[in-house]
Amino acid sequence: MPKPVIFSIDDDASVLNSIERDLRAKYGGDYRVLPINSGKAALEYLKKMEQRNETVALFLVDQRMPEMNGTEFLAEAMQTHPQAKRVLLTAYGDTQAAIDSINEVRLDYYLMKPWHPPEERLYPILDELLADWKAHVRLPYDGIRVAGALWSLSSHQVKDFLTRHQIPYQWLDIEKDSNARSLVESATTEAKLPVIFFPDGKVLVEPELKELADKVGLQTQAGLPFYDIIIIGSGPAGLAAAVYAGSEGYKCLVIEKAAPGGQAGSSPKIENYLGFPAGISGDDLTRRAVSQAKRFGVEILSAQEAVQVGVNDAYRIVKLNDGTNISCHAVLIATGASFHTLKMPGADKLTGAGIYYGAAYTEAMNYKDGDVSVVGGANSAAQGAIYLSQFARKVTVLIRGHAPTASKHLVDAMQSNAKIEILTDADLLEVKGNDTLERIVIKNTKSDETQTLDASALFVFIGVQPQSKIVSELVMCSGKGYVFTGPDVMVDKRPPPGWTLERDPFLLETSTPGIFAAGDVRYGTSHRVASAVGEGAIAYALMKEYLKTL
Ligand SMILES: Cc1cc2nc3c(=O)[nH]c(=O)nc-3n(C[C@H](O)[C@H](O)[C@H](O)COP(=O)(O)OP(=O)(O)OC[C@H]3O[C@@H](n4cnc5c(N)ncnc54)[C@H](O)[C@@H]3O)c2cc1C
Repeated sequence: MPKPVIFSIDDDASVLNSIERDLRAKYGGDYRVLPINSGKAALEYLKKMEQRNETVALFLVDQRMPEMNGTEFLAEAMQTHPQAKRVLLTAYGDTQAAIDSINEVRLDYYLMKPWHPPEERLYPILDELLADWKAHVRLPYDGIRVAGALWSLSSHQVKDFLTRHQIPYQWLDIEKDSNARSLVESATTEAKLPVIFFPDGKVLVEPELKELADKVGLQTQAGLPFYDIIIIGSGPAGLAAAVYAGSEGYKCLVIEKAAPGGQAGSSPKIENYLGFPAGISGDDLTRRAVSQAKRFGVEILSAQEAVQVGVNDAYRIVKLNDGTNISCHAVLIATGASFHTLKMPGADKLTGAGIYYGAAYTEAMNYKDGDVSVVGGANSAAQGAIYLSQFARKVTVLIRGHAPTASKHLVDAMQSNAKIEILTDADLLEVKGNDTLERIVIKNTKSDETQTLDASALFVFIGVQPQSKIVSELVMCSGKGYVFTGPDVMVDKRPPPGWTLERDPFLLETSTPGIFAAGDVRYGTSHRVASAVGEGAIAYALMKEYLKTL
């Protein structure tokens, strides 16, 4: 937290020097003493301070200054810094102006020049005012502040990125908070959101996630040109493989396009993972796994997407979306799966503006006391609904089938929750709203009746699709895009065409030697955290076998 500021403002250089010297001598240890020679310059400076979220404890301002006198300055300064103490420095002839300003600008004190000796005529007064200020001040948040609008997709993406990386921030909604709006206006004239204010004074306007990742100190560039193992995806499968590879001394790089944890990282509470009888939140599990992997020397890149995987003799080459190529001997595809998106008209426009894919964690607080809906009947939807019910007034769960398919403990928890209403046989037909989601239209597939519901937010958890595009031309995949491994790549009990080795593919090896797959992206997996972790661990053991043969 930067030191609070004591401003001294006077156009007379010798007076300014002398008051600065006296203030520093007594208050320099606890406060930053800032001398400025005009009211206008001080107001400009105040704007910058606001962006850095610095606090002003006291204004000590000369009344007689050209352009803008002390009272006029204080009248403006108190708009943005109402908590700061206000002291006018006056000459004998200014007494009436000073008395008038007691009401006008709620002046705390007027000091007569000269103020010497300061021990008698300055410090006792300021001591009292500063003690009073300290007792009542509400110090501003001194971390990252994200100012944006609830309807802006890029604001949602930034919040989601920071939340998923467990980086604390304060959300300032420019639609509800006029101070937040003026803060944004003071920082940029561009109509872009969000605007992110950092404690060091740096401001980013609608940044790319990679720029944001760099600014918050996450690793975005590989430290080496070559690794033994590259893992693409940092969900449970990727992180499990990374922990084993790192712990056995292999040079290992994990590439993550968003934030570590994958789908599991977005789960409010995983209750069926071995060893956690009271459940564990996805971000807690992720934090532990990430620190475990890093402790073993694994590098994890954030906000870096792998866009292609290639083969060059014994080397496997991974290309990133910034054009960088990184080579290695073995690659693990642990890219998991992502939710299907809504296909109806208007859904794209409202994504991030009321429609969210699996983002209950990030946005729940913003819908406090609101009516929200959840689409989907499986575990992830049920967890989302239960989590949202802690904040929302009402949560309507829309399930296309006749009953939820979530685990029994989750269905029981939803059914006994007074805030949750489950609508089965409910087909979502339309989403409506101009800038933000306002209503949804659903049809009961049994009765054919349609109804329109108010909905300030719709959290979508419908079906998942494998994220296998980066290898779909290199390895064999199912019709739905799941990556085949081991026995599934065999054709008539023989290795697939193009297979170059004597041996058959390992259990979790794809149709290309040295390229492995684990977790939700793999054909035949069971879409569970424990399965992904187990497959990640087995994939590592098989990659180790593979490395031994090179
Ligand atoms: C909300 C929710 C709740 C859940 N709750 C439970 C539960 O309680 N119990 C349970 O057992 N299971 C649960 N699951 C399922 C479980 O989370 C998944 O089965 C598991 O996360 C799969 O792990 P994974 O590592 O294979 O893939 P994922 O978790 O999907 O991770 C894949 C990662 O790869 C990254 N990636 C993808 N493509 C690229 C690329 N080209 N470049 C770089 N990175 C890339 C993604 O950003 C992602 O971070 C839940 C899922 C969700 C969504």
